[in-house]
Amino acid sequence: MLPIHDATPEERRTSTIARRPLLDASAEDLRTWVEARGHKAFRARQVRQWVIDRRAESFEGMTDVPLALRRQLDEEWVVFGTKVAFHGVSPDGTDKLLLECADGKRIECVLMAEDRRHTICISTQVGCGMGCVFCASGLKGVERNLSKGEILEQVIRLRNLLPAGESLTNIVVMGMGESLANLDNLIAALDVVCSPEGLGMGQRRVTISTVGLPAKIRELAALDRQYHLAVSLHAPTEALRNELVPVNEKIGLTAVLEAADDYFRATGRQVTYEYVLLHGLNDRPGDAEALGSRLKGRKAHVNLIPYNPVAGLPFERPTPEAIRRFVEIVRGRGISVTVRKTKGRAIDAACGQLRRRLDESVSAVPISAATADVPGTAIGIE
Ligand code: SAH
Repeated sequence: MLPIHDATPEERRTSTIARRPLLDASAEDLRTWVEARGHKAFRARQVRQWVIDRRAESFEGMTDVPLALRRQLDEEWVVFGTKVAFHGVSPDGTDKLLLECADGKRIECVLMAEDRRHTICISTQVGCGMGCVFCASGLKGVERNLSKGEILEQVIRLRNLLPAGESLTNIVVMGMGESLANLDNLIAALDVVCSPEGLGMGQRRVTISTVGLPAKIRELAALDRQYHLAVSLHAPTEALRNELVPVNEKIGLTAVLEAADDYFRATGRQVTYEYVLLHGLNDRPGDAEALGSRLKGRKAHVNLIPYNPVAGLPFERPTPEAIRRFVEIVRGRGISVTVRKTKGRAIDAACGQLRRRLDESVSAVPISAATADVPGTAIGIE
């Protein structure tokens, strides 16, 4: 006979099996689990539909699922593995969520409404390892990749903020992290977003932004998806790019452009080049001319992003005149150009800014004030 042993509080705490986030599991996983407990296979689909289509945020609310199954689910699963740590609302129709993962790490995602478009911007990593000198996300390096479920939860939680019956129209993967450094989990999440059993979004409505990792760009091209690729260029020459995007020293601007050309050849999808305009550093007429020459002959699009000031960093926004001149010169070389609009001014809706502010109290502006007017942020919307 085994000796009777009462678990100590410490044993109880450490032996508690963490409940699994539903969206980290595949439809297949959930079906197997449901069947193993004596329920019909279709119940698994029903449960996923409750979360994906019917906006359920707990098992309890899944009223046409048998009570016994709901109880079993509740013992072993959670609908969401993340918690909303902060929800900011800006008067211009931008919502920002700061989500806390099960391990306490915090990630950001944003919903931007304009006319009839509902665009969301999502993160792929906690922090970022690319070290772009002007960006808040990478100031402390990268901590880890997000799981498929953590990426999907951003999409579903933001969608759940929309009025009933309305759906997301576009996704930009331009939040925290280097998207292509977490390609597998990102694609697994987007596959659910873009499948008819998932959110049914068209692949062409998804934009993946990357610092430009050549091998990963080619891997993405080979996956035979229709995602739009945005490459963060930020400089027309190797020397200047090395300064602004230090990872360029290992990669090289030429290799980035070659990989982007391959992406265009393989997919037929025109590549967008993002270019953050930093006053006096890369916004001069000579930079615009060099950019125009560098991209000439390509079927490319340039998206200029006036810099969003990050507390503690020494960079400044370009003047309206510098922006106008830059656009004119690049357009003069036959390249299409847009300037990104600023959204979410009141809520730090740019990469890593809100997380940083809440973690470090880097600014005196009250975070809860929806009308607080901090310097503009630009994310996602063109
Ligand atoms: N790692 C990906 C996603 C980054 S965020 C990438 O490099 O593309 C999306 C875009 O916002 C990038 O082009 C990034 O360089 C830019 N960005 C980051 N911080 C910014 C800031 N403070 N102001 C304006 N754009 C910024």
